[in-house]
Amino acid sequence: MNADVLVLGAGIVGVSVAVQLALRGRKVVLVDRRDPGEETSYGNSGVVGRSGVTPMAFPRSAAAFGKVVRQQYPGARYQASALPGLAPWLFAYWRASEPSRMMASAERLAPMTAASVEEHRRLAEMSGAEHLYRDGGWMKVYRSDGGFDAAKRQLDLARRYGINAVAMSAGEAQAAEPHLRPVFAGATLWTDLRSVSDPGGVVKAAAALLPRLQALFVTGDARTLRAVADGWSVDGVDGPITAREAVVALGPWAADVLHPLGYRIPLAVKRGYHKHYAAEGNATLTRPILDEERGYVITPMEKGIRLTSGSEFAARDAPKSPLQLDIAEKDAKELFPLAARREAEPWMGSRPCLPDMLPVIGPAPRHKGLWLAFGHQHNGFTLGPPTGRLLAEMMTGGEPFVDPAPFRADRF
Ligand SMILES: Cc1cc2nc3c(=O)[nH]c(=O)nc-3n(C[C@H](O)[C@H](O)[C@H](O)COP(=O)(O)OP(=O)(O)OC[C@H]3O[C@@H](n4cnc5c(N)ncnc54)[C@H](O)[C@@H]3O)c2cc1C
Repeated sequence: MNADVLVLGAGIVGVSVAVQLALRGRKVVLVDRRDPGEETSYGNSGVVGRSGVTPMAFPRSAAAFGKVVRQQYPGARYQASALPGLAPWLFAYWRASEPSRMMASAERLAPMTAASVEEHRRLAEMSGAEHLYRDGGWMKVYRSDGGFDAAKRQLDLARRYGINAVAMSAGEAQAAEPHLRPVFAGATLWTDLRSVSDPGGVVKAAAALLPRLQALFVTGDARTLRAVADGWSVDGVDGPITAREAVVALGPWAADVLHPLGYRIPLAVKRGYHKHYAAEGNATLTRPILDEERGYVITPMEKGIRLTSGSEFAARDAPKSPLQLDIAEKDAKELFPLAARREAEPWMGSRPCLPDMLPVIGPAPRHKGLWLAFGHQHNGFTLGPPTGRLLAEMMTGGEPFVDPAPFRADRF
């Protein structure tokens, strides 16, 4: 089978790339070992848009650092056995989290996140997935007065960057979300963004567009990718597929294909867990809520209220250790009347992360016809559609709608 482009990985990033290339007339084959949207792009908190001003940085204060080391930092835990392997990456992340460097990363990414709501809207309108989106932003609640005061100071910074967010007293927040319990001092409401009730469904709907655009989805193993005389070839279930160009959009698995080609891009993962719950009685939630000082999110989803944990630093394929989710469950039950769990085993996924908190989007430095789109860390669901547009513009000679230079692979 021959195509113009092979897109490897059918998460939100790969599917968005495939759709955007097909819209521009390229003959695309999208390859995944599973059905579209069944890994990281399925299990996230479903927040789409500018959910804050700064990226998720490594805590720099001595007090916060101490809490991380003692496993008392709510948003992050680590598996000690993973630390020797992760040490160089963690050091690079810690350096990139220095405030001026972190703000530089935030500014480089801002045009992409600013475009995300509109790019999602366009994709959802084409794919008939608009019913899975809701407006109403997301709310961050603060348990302590100190935390709430610090959050209010952040709002000025948000406004300077053109992000709309307002402070709310606990009473105002409860008027907006009547089933939240009064365990918090105040809240902020970030009004520009949207959220989804089924992130995997959004990806599946977008992938279902492909046949209409003369593109194909094929089951196959991306690790069979090899350079051939006229481009790239990969093994699908029915035999090899060859194309002039290939895109690696494998999220946390990108290195499985790039390492054998000689690339040493510093990709690590921050793992996360989720479970779904029924709500007690007639309790409802209308938007995602971040319990900032406890480090978890609750989001209303089609399967129930989804509780998602913060970050776990561990080897990607190490066994699950969902202690963080167990702690979050207790905290979340204080905030909202969660009832029975809907599944016994938690879901686990991996946020694909580069130390400077920016993705890689663009050509592979040493291989003609090979393109890269991965490493979207905590906001990859948001960034999938704008990434698809940007990479397709680069690959088809269009004018990139944002400057792609900060995302070059050869910055490492
Ligand atoms: C707990 C949690 C909460 C999050 N919350 C949010 C949020 O609210 N908002 C937000 O914007 N982002 C959020 N994220 C981040 C976001 O989910 C990810 O950044 C994003 O989904 C990454 O998308 P992707 O397409 O790069 O990767 P994936 O969705 O993981 O897709 C990669 C694909 O590659 C395929 N693959 C892997 N290896 C092979 C192989 N050998 N052969 C063939 N196929 C292969 C996989 O099957 C998969 O389909 C969250 C992440 C987590 C873990």
